Amino acid sequence: MRSSELFNPTLREIPSEAEIISHQLLLRAGFIRKTSGGIYSYLPLGYRVIKKIMQIVREEMDLAGGQEILMPIIQPAELWQKSGRWDVYGDEMFRLNDRHNRHFALGPTHEEIITALVDGDVHSYRDLPLLLYQIQNKYRDEIRPRFGLMRGREFIMKDLYSFDIDDEGLDISYRKMYAAYRRIYERLNLKFRVVEADSGAIGGNESHEFMVLADTGESEIVYCAQCEYAANVEKAVCSVDEEIQNDAALLPVEKVHTPGQKTIQDIVDYLNIPAANQIKTLLYLADDELIAACVRGDRELNEIKLKNILGCNQLFMADEDTVKRKCAAGFGSLGPVGLDVKVYADLEIEKMQNFACGANENDYHYKNVNLGRDFVPESIVDIRNAVAGDKCPHCEGILKIIRGIEVGHIFKLGVKYSQAMGATFLDQKGMEKPMVMGCYGIGISRTMAAAVEQNYDENGIIWPIPIAPYHVIIIPVNSKKEDQMEAARSIYEELNKQGIETIIDDRDERAGVKFKDADLTGIPVKITIGPKTLQENKVEVKKRWESEMQLVPLDLVLDAVKNILGNV
Ligand code: ATP
Ligand code: MG
Repeated sequence: MRSSELFNPTLREIPSEAEIISHQLLLRAGFIRKTSGGIYSYLPLGYRVIKKIMQIVREEMDLAGGQEILMPIIQPAELWQKSGRWDVYGDEMFRLNDRHNRHFALGPTHEEIITALVDGDVHSYRDLPLLLYQIQNKYRDEIRPRFGLMRGREFIMKDLYSFDIDDEGLDISYRKMYAAYRRIYERLNLKFRVVEADSGAIGGNESHEFMVLADTGESEIVYCAQCEYAANVEKAVCSVDEEIQNDAALLPVEKVHTPGQKTIQDIVDYLNIPAANQIKTLLYLADDELIAACVRGDRELNEIKLKNILGCNQLFMADEDTVKRKCAAGFGSLGPVGLDVKVYADLEIEKMQNFACGANENDYHYKNVNLGRDFVPESIVDIRNAVAGDKCPHCEGILKIIRGIEVGHIFKLGVKYSQAMGATFLDQKGMEKPMVMGCYGIGISRTMAAAVEQNYDENGIIWPIPIAPYHVIIIPVNSKKEDQMEAARSIYEELNKQGIETIIDDRDERAGVKFKDADLTGIPVKITIGPKTLQENKVEVKKRWESEMQLVPLDLVLDAVKNILGNV
């Protein structure tokens, strides 16, 4: 490809709307352009990267026994009504009507469509297992579309669905996908971690997320440096340190006047009680029942865990009016003592002694409260977010925290959709059974952004070789000099013949501009042809990720490039 013909509009300035590096660089390097919030066009270089990611994903899905199909983006409401999700999916779903006022949605995901599709044509255990996938645009009206491709409203996803005769079958399909996902991220040359994800209220449903490690990631991951354990912060299991001894003398409860003191920090300052020796109490409406949840003052309550424990459909923090009606105190003065609702206390509270909390009366707190003596919770449960320094739930190690970008998610669905939608088969004994399903997603466009978050420097992107839009860029320092262009063309042809994807920057631009653009677009290998070196029949070969270049004789350029690229 000649740069003079390539549609690659680069920008000198950092676009003001772009907060994170991948968004900035993909815009600046001319890979994507915004059409509307969270909706992007992919320009030639950007689309080449997307296609390479798709190809790796496709190869691994096929190897794992997947068969590629393409389902409609427009999905009829009836199918979603059948699964029961039409009314609960909420505002994230783009909805539309046809000319007869029939309702449709732009597919945010495809469980309904595929379950109906398979139900229509699969009737016997002999037809199973079945692994079907597609690569296609998805539509989600995200509350906060942001960070460019990271959280789009239209984005590209690979979604595979597995259908098996029983749980053992699902287990095999799930393991295959797990292994395929690992291979995909290894082949993409990205640093990643697989983390245990929330399995929802229905216990036993396994789920894993694939996280590309990057400081700007939206997810916090706890991991153990000693074993393989890793999980999302909000999903990580918190265990109590059994070695903590409860041997301090229990002091009598004291009610203290705390005028205007509402937050944990207020009480730290006013009563000189550390946050770790206070508890905070939050009131929630769980399907209309008011309940209280307590965690240590310096911890964060985890709503997902709480919701799973309660097994409720909806969980909302109670508004201040509801709170006042129940306990005649505002948010800042709540505590579990004498509270007339069920109290769920975090595991850690059982180990705390003589702690402080609100007295359910404005401007008053209690000191020296103890669980058991002063209040008896409904249950003592794990309802806080994990933090660095917690004990690993699997070994003796200590947990640490890193940030990551969720690029893939695999999930055992079981019979949730097949049962609701009547997708059954006849087993060996002629019994009718619901198919056992799994679903497996990869954010293709998000993976492209994640690759940039992990691979850049102050000059631009540094594409991992397997997904670089081109492998090599040849830069004649002065495109008007015929000898430089001549050498450039001959290297270009030689590389192309070997399947090495090459750009020749034949633009009539200053060398500095060409170098800057080459760095910005992140092409792995740069070959510079200048007048001095050319006199000696040599060119400069430079790897994008190293600062040194090598001088290479013209007849050895191909070998040098192959050496750098490996087997592309
Ligand atoms: P998130 O928690 O980030 O909203 P999700 O749990 O909604 O993700 P899934 O429904 O599991 O995501 O979708 C599978 C994959 O699709 C995700 O792992 C992610 O890589 C990608 N993805 C999801 N939402 C978006 C989005 N708005 N923009 C880009 N990619 C997305
Ligand atoms: Mg989402």
